[in-house]
Amino acid sequence: MTLCYIPLLDGKQIKPEGYALVEQAKKLGDSVTAFIIHCGIDEQTIRLDCEDVHLIELPEKQWPISSIHIEAFRSFQEKRTDEAILFSSSPMANEIAAGLAFKLDRPLVNNVMDAVRENQHLSIKKEVYGGKACLYDETGLCSIITYDSAFLPPVKSETDRRAPAFHLHIKAEGNANIRFIEKKKLGWEEIGLTEAACVIGIGRGVYSLDGNNRLDMIKELAKVFNAPVGGSKVADELKLVPKERRIGSSGVSLDQADIYIAIGISGSSQHLDGIKNVKHILAINIDPAAPIFKRADLGIVSDFKEAVPQLVEIIKNKSGVNNSENISHLKASV
Ligand SMILES: Cc1cc2nc3c(=O)[nH]c(=O)nc-3n(C[C@H](O)[C@H](O)[C@H](O)COP(=O)(O)OP(=O)(O)OC[C@H]3O[C@@H](n4cnc5c(N)ncnc54)[C@H](O)[C@@H]3O)c2cc1C
Repeated sequence: MTLCYIPLLDGKQIKPEGYALVEQAKKLGDSVTAFIIHCGIDEQTIRLDCEDVHLIELPEKQWPISSIHIEAFRSFQEKRTDEAILFSSSPMANEIAAGLAFKLDRPLVNNVMDAVRENQHLSIKKEVYGGKACLYDETGLCSIITYDSAFLPPVKSETDRRAPAFHLHIKAEGNANIRFIEKKKLGWEEIGLTEAACVIGIGRGVYSLDGNNRLDMIKELAKVFNAPVGGSKVADELKLVPKERRIGSSGVSLDQADIYIAIGISGSSQHLDGIKNVKHILAINIDPAAPIFKRADLGIVSDFKEAVPQLVEIIKNKSGVNNSENISHLKASV
């Protein structure tokens, strides 16, 4: 038996990775159980191709606290003999998985690309050396596994099956020292490059010797998409972006981003390495032969000083300034 911790958006809606996680779970055992900790999910929307679904409802203010999930999960797990427990990697899921591994004294394997069952162990595949190589390893059947969400392709539930649902009433206190205070939407300047759905990257093409780099235009674009700004190694060396915002083989890798907007970036192999898992790429470059266009879904051959203000205008007129709507518009275009 395999247990899946189904990831939710705001505690109320199953994330696409949840369906992919159930598909992965089927590779590990003959029966799959879904475990959902929510704060008001509409049960009619739960269509998971699994044996059964166990639900625990938390008050809305308790849902964002991972120690309460760990406690609830542990109480539920005590009565069961599940084999592997699967999570889709995210900051909160990783915390819950680690806490649970500690409480249940089980092995934990993080950021797995794939796992299959082989006799009395699980064979797992992981990325190593910044994605340049794969490691194949073995772990016990009772392991707790977090899947790298970049390798959990978002799938829509194709099943009409409504597995029997069981409601559990568990008094989970969590850590009394942790209280939910407020929920705040992060602005583009605060969102980490590795967490954002949409990221803007700038390169040497944005640099101007006279010091007038027109970063104001880039900031305007960042605002309409609520997207953090990173850059190439050259952008980092020219002080257009801070060092920790370098994207590429010697910087960060954008594993969560749906959209990357590359502005004045040629598309060197080292830079492409950092964006290999991005789903859609929009490139703005003055040179039609720039290699970035080979990797881009949508290319704009233009001076960025002309293209960026127009892009900002189009997006503003089309959808107001709502980040998620803007991302869907852009996704539909690329
Ligand atoms: C060991 C090693 C590690 C490295 N690691 C990284 C890394 O992690 N990340 C990384 O990015 N690089 C890395 N590099 C550097 C990499 O090889 C490239 O030099 C770098 O990516 C180029 O940056 P760029 O695209 O900003 O600049 P360039 O290659 O100079 O490209 C600038 C682009 O801007 C365009 N342009 C110019 N003016 C305009 C305009 N007005 N409007 C629109 N477009 C314009 C040009 O046509 C050109 O395509 C590494 C190199 C080495 C050797």
